[in-house]
Amino acid sequence: MPELPECEANRRRVEDGALNRTITGFSEGNVTHLDLPTPSERKRLEGRQFTEARRHGKLIFAGSATGPWISVHLGMTGWLDCVDGSFEPPNWGHFVICFEGDRRLVFHNRRKLGWMKVIDDPATYLDDTGVGPDAMEMGENAFVDMLGKSRGAIKAALMDQKKIAGIGNLYSDETLYQVGISPKAKGSDLDAATLKKVHSALCDVLDTLLAANDGGPVPKDWLRHRREAGAACGLCDGTIRKATVGGRTAFYCSEHQS
Ligand SMILES: [Zn+2]
Repeated sequence: MPELPECEANRRRVEDGALNRTITGFSEGNVTHLDLPTPSERKRLEGRQFTEARRHGKLIFAGSATGPWISVHLGMTGWLDCVDGSFEPPNWGHFVICFEGDRRLVFHNRRKLGWMKVIDDPATYLDDTGVGPDAMEMGENAFVDMLGKSRGAIKAALMDQKKIAGIGNLYSDETLYQVGISPKAKGSDLDAATLKKVHSALCDVLDTLLAANDGGPVPKDWLRHRREAGAACGLCDGTIRKATVGGRTAFYCSEHQS
């Protein structure tokens, strides 16, 4: 599932290709069960321009000071792309915003778990839906406070979008592997110094991924390269194990994350 770094790469593509062009229409294909703008919402967008693209956690927004905005969640496998000229519609679920000059913003939604809504503005939308602070914007003190009060598994807290937005299964595992904390550890059992290390590791993971842009090469000692049960740990003599934590599959080292 796309997490903060992948969503940021999608936001950049929107910023590079879909701003300051008048919206002229829409097209779509294979959209049964897809959550897309209604006809009246599409009317609101028509004739308008997006002048900025923002991201908060796993949500991508495009709009202007006077609105309206689109809010996009990529679901498990969705992505956004800008194309020019002849466009061969894909066989999978997709929604297209057409702009002047033959430019299109294509929302690919292969597994139909992503969605696009039309909203008045991102700040109000985030307030109304209770999404937590963006992981890149959350300061150390707020992070330590949030996890220190968390009585559940630390991995579940890191993935809780109402507590901290943008982290999913892959990068919660990566962070905890790098800092040597079990995914099952309770935040409230860890001292502030340890939670600061988790924050620092999370920032390093996200910074590295953002610099790599859209899943590019990452260091060889990351869990990502050995994320399967029975694999040898890259950091110690331990073995990678698989467990269910907070309803999700976690991978962790049997030794240095005990
Ligand atoms: Zn290890």
